Amino acid sequence: MTRYIIIVGGVISGIGKGITTASIGKILKEYGYSVTAIKIDPYLNYDAGTLRPTEHGEVWVTDDGGEIDQDLGNYERFLDQDIPRKNNLTSGQVYKTVIEQERKGKFLGKTVQFIPHIPDEIKKRIRDAGNGYDFCLIEIGGTIGDYENIPFLFAVKSLERDIGKNNIIYVLVTYLPVPSNIGEMKTKPTQQAIRMLGENGIFPNFILCRSKTPLDSVRKEKIEKYANISPGSVISEPDVDTIYRVPVDLEENSLGIKILKEFGIAKEKQQILHEWKKLVSAIEFPQKKIKIALIGKYVKIGAYDLKDAYISVNEALKSAGAALNAKVEITLICSKSFEASNTGILSQYDGIIIPGGFGCSGVEGKLNAIEFARKNSKPFLGLCLGMQLAVIEFARNVCSMEKANSTEIDPYTEYPVIDILPDQEKLINNSDYGATMRLGAYAADLKPGSKVLSLYQKTKRLDQDKKRIQILTGQKSFRLGKLETENVILERHRHRYEVNPEFAEEIEKKGLVFSGAHTRNDSKKLMEFIEIPEHPFFIATQSHPEFKSRFESPSPLFYGFLEACIHAQSKQNL
Ligand code: GLN
Repeated sequence: MTRYIIIVGGVISGIGKGITTASIGKILKEYGYSVTAIKIDPYLNYDAGTLRPTEHGEVWVTDDGGEIDQDLGNYERFLDQDIPRKNNLTSGQVYKTVIEQERKGKFLGKTVQFIPHIPDEIKKRIRDAGNGYDFCLIEIGGTIGDYENIPFLFAVKSLERDIGKNNIIYVLVTYLPVPSNIGEMKTKPTQQAIRMLGENGIFPNFILCRSKTPLDSVRKEKIEKYANISPGSVISEPDVDTIYRVPVDLEENSLGIKILKEFGIAKEKQQILHEWKKLVSAIEFPQKKIKIALIGKYVKIGAYDLKDAYISVNEALKSAGAALNAKVEITLICSKSFEASNTGILSQYDGIIIPGGFGCSGVEGKLNAIEFARKNSKPFLGLCLGMQLAVIEFARNVCSMEKANSTEIDPYTEYPVIDILPDQEKLINNSDYGATMRLGAYAADLKPGSKVLSLYQKTKRLDQDKKRIQILTGQKSFRLGKLETENVILERHRHRYEVNPEFAEEIEKKGLVFSGAHTRNDSKKLMEFIEIPEHPFFIATQSHPEFKSRFESPSPLFYGFLEACIHAQSKQNL
């Protein structure tokens, strides 16, 4: 029987419900239980695929091709497991299913109503995602009091009735502000959040108090009394320098054991989070510092910078840094600043990353930065658009293909080295926008003797991916294609354009190696990795390896990239 833990937010959004959910899951997993997590997004969009990253933050891609809210990324990074797209529920999906069923006559003769049909569909989806796990965490997006999350609160209450009170608990993650003019931590908004939850029949078993500084005993007691819960159930969760500290702090407050007790499970506490703690201390007390220039779009919402635009790239860098005992200092530089070729300031960074992106904004600046990295032996990692631009730069400046480009940027270029392959074009013309991207995990064969292969071997990802490929073989939603060799890995994708095979041979002759490719069932090859063998580290991929990077097992490419940055630093210091 699956036990459910419902996580709701109080007072304001953005207080780290996702990190808290992921941290609770991690603790329970360390106790030896199987855990999964669901994110509920109460908006009406069907999924996050059509949301603007500049407003909502980067879109997360699952192995099975879902375009999802970032929180699923936190679950995967913390739990070190693949979470499928069905673990993201939106109001749009729920309503669409119910209306489609009504049209097909499934409810013939009945009035289709908000209650029971909407909560019933929500419950069905929750139970389907939780099936087979010891614990299923459900994070309800938004803040208590939002109109939008009422159906989901109703549904979990109804789930409680179905499975019994002993199999479900509620956690409120709330925020305690310290208004600067008062200088005192206020509990009133939290009291109101507790009251609003009560109006939905939900009385939290635990209240986790997010705040700038730790909660004192006076306020703890006040909240305990107001919520009518036992001492020890109000837990302070102050701001921390690294999100990866959160499971450690919650465990120090015995939250894991307390949760097990609520479910009436007796389990001796073991020494847990051993490896995790080592990595956290590598972040908190690093031996080295690496400066990385992340060249992308500089994004603002109104007067504020958007922090989430490259969140997975940032987290992949931090995880790889922790494994190498290094603090990674990431500077987001707007690519437009390099349009006049003034790339000189890049010499102060240890490495350069060009992340994914769409459209033509800032592209010439990115090309100049890539040229700088290639010519100055600066470690370079290109991700998706970053790889496409690296191919373009090489075609233009080494292969003399003047004004070579991607047809996404210049549809009339004489050298379309990046293009939509003919059969893909057909797909695009025939289907709705958004349905034509290469999405989710694809297999790629890596070239013997390549740097890329040695990195996947060294970090043990090659072995892990081989095992996963065995499990996935035959599952329709995974694009394994034809597996040509033993050296097969899986990475996730979200793009439309590909390296144009017409130019591949000519480019390779001049020294850019295509070191990995996906072979489609019709035997067509899609280029997945490039590298320049004589460069200290010039590697790029058509995939988004940041989506499969985990705190305890960082992405091979990010690991290799930082290793090369450290190596370059030590050479400089000689
Ligand atoms: N815009 C490019 C494409 O669609 C790259 C996309 C990306 O970087 N995710 O192919």
